Amino acid sequence: MAAVREDFDVRSVERGEVLRYLGYAGQALTPELDARIDEVVETCLATCRPQGVVRVFDVAGRGEKNGAPVIRLSGTALELAGRSIDEHLAGAVAVGVLAVTVGMGVEVELRRLSLVDPVAQVIFDAAGTAAVERAADAAEASIVAEAHERGLFCGTRFSPGYGDLPLSTQPVLLDALDAGRLLGIRLSPALLMSPTKSVTAVVGLFERPRPEAHASCGGCPCRDFCVLLRAGSTCRG
Ligand code: SF4
Repeated sequence: MAAVREDFDVRSVERGEVLRYLGYAGQALTPELDARIDEVVETCLATCRPQGVVRVFDVAGRGEKNGAPVIRLSGTALELAGRSIDEHLAGAVAVGVLAVTVGMGVEVELRRLSLVDPVAQVIFDAAGTAAVERAADAAEASIVAEAHERGLFCGTRFSPGYGDLPLSTQPVLLDALDAGRLLGIRLSPALLMSPTKSVTAVVGLFERPRPEAHASCGGCPCRDFCVLLRAGSTCRG
């Protein structure tokens, strides 16, 4: 199946998450700063163009490469290497792969703010990070829906750079999704993504529900984007 770009409707971010990215640890906020945060978050959300690409690959097999476990996927050169991802995907029969970005507009505005308003730049940066995580929630919801169609159940997201899943996974992962063409995501020589507010991740699909993921709709990060919930169904069978 060819990769297809999806637009995501990200209308809000968790304020607490923005504060966490700002390094907030319970200090008192002045009313002025409080209002400024809300204002800059709104501007950031208006600037974001959240988009993503998702594909699901069957697990072709498991083996070992250079002394580390490796998971091979059908129909792609993408391999997932390392003990962390091996444990995370233990028992998975398929793997959802996602890439999302909130676009170059956020990048351009961050550069402009760095010259004229450093306080706003820091808040905008935190809001952009929260927004791209919401886009990743939306992409994950698409994988949950596809898993549901197959009678499977999703685990949680895992990104290159977590544990010992190497960042060198990024080029093949982005190629597998045609993310350069569809989303405009490029990699630096150090394998960092541009636009910087971009996320890649994989999600395992399992034959039985995963207790750690999507345990209740109320606390689920995919809730705002979930087609199953809207249809009166759930991903838990
Ligand atoms: S909102 Fe509910 S049905 Fe949808 S993914 Fe989350 S837990 Fe599953």
